[in-house]
Amino acid sequence: MGKTICVTNQKGGVGKTTTVINLGCSLAAAQKKTLIIDLDPQANATSGVGIDKNESETTVYDVLLGRSDIRNSIKKVHQSVLNDYLFLCPSNAELTGAEIELIGVENRDWKLKEAISKIVLDFDYILIDCPPSLNLLTINSLAAADSVLIPVQCEYYALEGLSQLNRTINLIKERLNSDIQVEGYLLTLFDSRNRLSSVIVNEVRTYFKDKVFDTIVPRNVRLAECPSHGLPILLYDATSKGAQSYISLAREIIENNNGGYRS
Ligand code: ADP
Ligand code: MG
Repeated sequence: MGKTICVTNQKGGVGKTTTVINLGCSLAAAQKKTLIIDLDPQANATSGVGIDKNESETTVYDVLLGRSDIRNSIKKVHQSVLNDYLFLCPSNAELTGAEIELIGVENRDWKLKEAISKIVLDFDYILIDCPPSLNLLTINSLAAADSVLIPVQCEYYALEGLSQLNRTINLIKERLNSDIQVEGYLLTLFDSRNRLSSVIVNEVRTYFKDKVFDTIVPRNVRLAECPSHGLPILLYDATSKGAQSYISLAREIIENNNGGYRS
């Protein structure tokens, strides 16, 4: 069975989408069949893997509203290079309306889980890119996930907001998904020239201990460039420090899950 990992932090700009795209691509390169679900109306994960957000006939929005089977909304990414290992369920701006349209709908917290249950056997990993808020979309994602991966930027207000996120995860545990676990905290946007970055690394490690991944993602210009080319970093500049860090993160996750999750 595939493992569903929700990548979330209600703060914007911490590296959620960058992580989903590049972890997804690195898992695919390790021959783990991976599905990215873009759950952000900004659709940056969709465009970041080279899929035009205005061209998809059906998106995750139609899936959540029960208008499309998730199997019909899944697209193959960079087919030739990744050899059928990376897939995407796209998003677009319509998703902004989902929260209001789901008001009064029965089991509205479970729509994503219901959809994923149809395809969970087809993948090794399912990565969900969350919007920068704790809204109904994020709740759907936490209700559907086996674990949560939390990117934390190595900047001053990094820890701010994490206690609120942890309270939310605990509420989800009590009420919706008692099995959800923390996959790990991922330090992102590390700048070796900035002493503050190391201070934050130490703080986060002191606070969250072995829940913090060994891999630290550096601030890397190649990582910032690749979305405008619609390419994951591995296909844009595999030798960059950014690419190497996401390969190392994929390795940690595969190891933490004993080499694979699908039975
Ligand atoms: P989020 O999804 O949390 O809002 P993004 O992944 O979109 O964050 O990252 C925010 C911005 O920072 C984007 O422009 C992205 O390209 C850039 N970025 C993210 N991670 C890095 C990195 N490690 N090095 C350089 N730029 C990065
Ligand atoms: Mg994002």
